[in-house]
Amino acid sequence: MTATTISAESVRADVRSWATANWDPTLSLLAWRTLLLESGWAVPSWPERWYGRDLPAWADDVVRKELAACGAVSSIPSGLAGPTILEQGPDHTRERFLQPMLTGEEVWCQLFSEPTAGSDLAGLTTTAVLDGDEWVVNGQKLWNTSAHHADMGMLVARTNWDVPKHQGITYFVLPMRQPGVEIRPLKQMNYHSSFNEVFMTDARIPKDWVVGEVNQGWTAALATLAHERRFGAAVSFSRDTVDPGPAADEARAEADELRKVYSWYPQRAGRADLIVDHARSAGRTADPVVRQEAARLISMSRVSQWTADRAKANRALGRPPGAEGSIGKLATSNMARQAAKTHGLIGGANGLLAGSDPAASLDGKLAEILISVPAQSIAGGTDEIQRNILGERFLGLPREPNPGKDLPYRETRNQ
Ligand SMILES: Cc1cc2nc3c(=O)[nH]c(=O)nc-3n(C[C@H](O)[C@H](O)[C@H](O)COP(=O)(O)OP(=O)(O)OC[C@H]3O[C@@H](n4cnc5c(N)ncnc54)[C@H](O)[C@@H]3O)c2cc1C
Repeated sequence: MTATTISAESVRADVRSWATANWDPTLSLLAWRTLLLESGWAVPSWPERWYGRDLPAWADDVVRKELAACGAVSSIPSGLAGPTILEQGPDHTRERFLQPMLTGEEVWCQLFSEPTAGSDLAGLTTTAVLDGDEWVVNGQKLWNTSAHHADMGMLVARTNWDVPKHQGITYFVLPMRQPGVEIRPLKQMNYHSSFNEVFMTDARIPKDWVVGEVNQGWTAALATLAHERRFGAAVSFSRDTVDPGPAADEARAEADELRKVYSWYPQRAGRADLIVDHARSAGRTADPVVRQEAARLISMSRVSQWTADRAKANRALGRPPGAEGSIGKLATSNMARQAAKTHGLIGGANGLLAGSDPAASLDGKLAEILISVPAQSIAGGTDEIQRNILGERFLGLPREPNPGKDLPYRETRNQ
């Protein structure tokens, strides 16, 4: 099939006929997902050599929906590590890590931010030193979602202090379950606990568990960040109705566990989907100010959808991620704030009541929205950083002053 003859309908028909012949709910989840991988239907947009079918990016979504329509379990989302390793390699990392990631046997987390290196990620100070056949890592990471149940971490660490800061970073795969890695959960102001602090004390990494090349980790880190902006907060685990059996039971247990961490994420996006019902149930649909704010929100959401569609069309044409990632992320922050403001306008002071208080707006959800929305404009790069990216990379504005940029990092940090 050539690119010009591939249609969603033909992909749907192909996967349907494959699933009809192969889906067996009595299989274990691992056995079923292995079959999916071997057939290329786990991530059909990936290359044939790496568990895919070389189909356009839109095919992943079409296939996931069609598998669900057949009552079958889908593959687990490949997250950020999957596309990064696929793009950056080298082959031995693709061979070692992609399969167990896609079967769900190994869970991943992102170990990028540090107490003094968030927006300025390249200023990181966690250090890895080669000792025989292993890298020895010392340092601290922060805000690491899901680190408490991860098997592997995408770790960026400094491997050369004697070059400018962006040039001495390496992107590693850190085995999380080892004595040198201590994970301390953090409690958030919305009472959830999704993040962790991760302390590494002489933690060990096999010598060749490097994504990309030694000291070239900044390039691989940028690839992860581009995918993070692209996927945004769209973390979803299939709630499809699946034919009963071991595969379905195991998939449900897996999704329940993963979903715990992300249960407040819809609130973080402001719950624009609840605005009209909220206004109706509060008897406020005739209020001109409420109507105006709700209409503003719905307009923002339509425009944002067009940006997302443009990005999708670019991906389908095989173009690299463009300005839409940062524009989309900023739009999501603006919508989250607008939604929280409009819900607040409707709910009034009762919106501050949390939990099971009978007077609480939206059964207490509004209180959770109000304290979760700030996270939207921080995670995956703050609003200010998105504006810097748009200004510098896409509008060609002068770059921010960066006086130490050409100096060896050791000199600027006094190490
Ligand atoms: C929900 C959520 C999930 C997260 N998950 C992870 C994860 O799994 N793994 C991980 O490694 N990290 C994670 N993070 C951390 C996140 O990437 C950082 O919080 C973020 O990059 C900002 O860094 P910081 O918190 O150190 O803030 P800082 O960088 O200290 O920024 C503080 C303020 O200064 C502003 N600022 C900083 N530099 C500039 C500049 N050059 N120009 C203009 N303004 C500037 C910022 O916009 C911000 O307002 C997560 C964060 C959230 C909220």
